[in-house]
Amino acid sequence: MGYIDNIRRVVPYTPGEQPQRAVVKLNTNECPYPPAPGVAEAVRSIQAARLRLYPDPDCRELREALAEEYGLDAEQVFVGVGSDDVLSMCFLTFFAGQKPVLFADITYSFYDVWADVYRIPYERVPLREDYRLDGEGFMRENGGIVLCNPNAPTGLAEPMEVIEKIAGESPDSIVLVDEAYIDFGGQTALPLLEKYPNLIIVRTMSKSRALAGMRIGYAFGSRELIKYLQDVKFSVNSYTMNMAALAAGLAAVQDRLYFEETVDKIIVTRENTKRELARLGFEYLDSETNFIFARPPRGLQAADLFERLKEHDIYVRYFPKPRLSEYLRITIGTDEEMQKFVQVLEEILA
Ligand code: PMP
Repeated sequence: MGYIDNIRRVVPYTPGEQPQRAVVKLNTNECPYPPAPGVAEAVRSIQAARLRLYPDPDCRELREALAEEYGLDAEQVFVGVGSDDVLSMCFLTFFAGQKPVLFADITYSFYDVWADVYRIPYERVPLREDYRLDGEGFMRENGGIVLCNPNAPTGLAEPMEVIEKIAGESPDSIVLVDEAYIDFGGQTALPLLEKYPNLIIVRTMSKSRALAGMRIGYAFGSRELIKYLQDVKFSVNSYTMNMAALAAGLAAVQDRLYFEETVDKIIVTRENTKRELARLGFEYLDSETNFIFARPPRGLQAADLFERLKEHDIYVRYFPKPRLSEYLRITIGTDEEMQKFVQVLEEILA
């Protein structure tokens, strides 16, 4: 069985459960509302006969639409199969040195998986006691930095100055900011792009644009960095984005009003849910995302509550890990879903 030594063996990332029946699904930070109406139309209008052709490998239209929406040039935009694909390409492209890449000890748990699969050395910088980023901890020799802002699964956002200081102190490293949840709160690092050529921002259409099923993510950076990303992409798979995804993404970006209304609704529901959780004795970190990281009242273990909720067909996320295991991560659903959630919590707590 000598071949085992030649196999790239990895410990994979564990995605949240996707039960294939109707449940109150508050476990993977999806959007509870449908995507913009133009998305369905755009997908429907793709003629089956055209599917015999390859899609545009350059993803030009979608990149141009994103560039226009965010005040950039299309050459500053990269798109991929969900931000997981974009992040993976970023790890492969930008972290090819010998020095360790730095990211927080509590953050999106895919970062260390990509580092492992690509054999990238890394070190974790512990979050402070209050789960906030320790900016000073990133002021050391490194081969790159990954920041998730707002962070997951805490939901906490750091001000732009924190990101700016880190980017400024490590001019020889790529500083990647994962802004998967930025549309729900916090300050984007976008205005910093001009000043810091080492900055790269990654985002997704899975949450605020309700397209998790389409798999669309994107990155913003300097023309130079985006060119390096494109070169690596074209060295792995030229046609990452299929025609339906390209059309759906374009339609979603073009409907700004629907996007803003959807995000606003989720934010209102989030703030209401915070009040309900406080009333029921939960403690939570002050989320600026579409989820709340909350600790049940004394006497109720997060792991037990997770199971009890599941018995009522309410799915939330539980992380059996140090510093996380006392909490549940609860995605913001519709008002009706959150009312059901609160009602079941009341029953369990009674
Ligand atoms: N970054 C963060 C912080 C996330 O929570 C997620 C969702 N799991 C992603 C990236 C990836 O999302 P997607 O691939 O759907 O764009």
